[in-house]
Amino acid sequence: MAEIDKNAYKGVWVYIEQVDGQARGVGHELLAQGRMLADKLGQELAGVIIGHNVEALAKEVFASGADKVYLVDAPELAHYSTDGYAAVFTDLIQTYKPTAILLGATNDGRDLGPRVSCRVSTGLTADCTGLDIDEKTGLIAWTRPALGGNIMATILCPEHRPQMGTVRPKVFKRPEQDFSRTGEIVRVASKVKAEDIRTKLVDVIRIATASVNLEEAEVIVAGGRGMCTPENFCLIDQLADVLGAAVGASRAAVDAGWKSALNQVGQTGKTVGPKIYFACGISGAIQHLAGMSSSDIIIAINKDPDAPIFKMADYGIVGDVMEVLPILTEEFKKI
Ligand code: FAD
Repeated sequence: MAEIDKNAYKGVWVYIEQVDGQARGVGHELLAQGRMLADKLGQELAGVIIGHNVEALAKEVFASGADKVYLVDAPELAHYSTDGYAAVFTDLIQTYKPTAILLGATNDGRDLGPRVSCRVSTGLTADCTGLDIDEKTGLIAWTRPALGGNIMATILCPEHRPQMGTVRPKVFKRPEQDFSRTGEIVRVASKVKAEDIRTKLVDVIRIATASVNLEEAEVIVAGGRGMCTPENFCLIDQLADVLGAAVGASRAAVDAGWKSALNQVGQTGKTVGPKIYFACGISGAIQHLAGMSSSDIIIAINKDPDAPIFKMADYGIVGDVMEVLPILTEEFKKI
């Protein structure tokens, strides 16, 4: 492959994933990280918005730190499609040549990122949990768990451009928004025609969930193998109910069939960042910590005083969850 002129690639881009004109939180989290990277590189930060009737989002993107927005707005792009969005994104990269692109490691981001990186012949670091500039090379240092979560690998992309990666939602905090910030909107015409999109959206069926969304929750009560039986797991549900919290589970609890995979927190589950995380009968394996260590306050309940979760916890209760949880539930009811 012919060597590319790396100096021709400038600027950090963040893909602003949106649904029905609402930006997903991860876009804002990545704008904060993108700002940090762009400042260290002395380059500009841009948000990429693709959709239909989505120009209003630009204001939010500037408020979260972007200098520029690339906007591609067309009726064919009203809903995410692999064909349509990958074609538009590839075209943007080939025209404007950014040095780095961050996408959320969401269902759409995990679909879009690799396809686009392949089309522009570059690599992509998937599922990152850390971002910085490598001081020696000035390259983006993408950090992610590797070898079953036993090591954190830092990956550089020295040969190709742009440097691309997907980043887990909720690993980073949303920035404080400043709505007095403004920027430049670059409107780019879509070359995608309706017939280029091989999949058609027929219907959207929303799953009604009784409980609070785990990824957005401010308080999570999570249970592990230490809950011992599915019947005991209702102690977790009861405390969560009183606190208006979401219910999480370790993989051991999910594998045992006590909770659905939708509740799993960790490396192969969800990454969460609540204000308070209760870890009940959870040992604190590295793969579990990978999904909840950015919680503001961690409260662990475990009968083993040497359980690794206590090293991470802000508050620890050494005791039997079957005794401690009902007491907590009763006490919180009084508040
Ligand atoms: P255990 O490790 O068995 O811990 C149970 C804890 O409960 C113990 O500390 C015990 O002291 C305590 N306990 C027992 N009875 C009581 C009681 N009555 N009262 C109080 N405490 C009690 N795990 C995840 O959670 N999420 C993931 O996404 C994930 N991904 C993985 C990916 C890979 C590639 C691999 C290899 C593993 C992954 N795991 C994941 C599994 C992980 O390694 C652990 O096996 C798992 O987290 C253990 O769950 P646990 O803490 O509930 O169970």
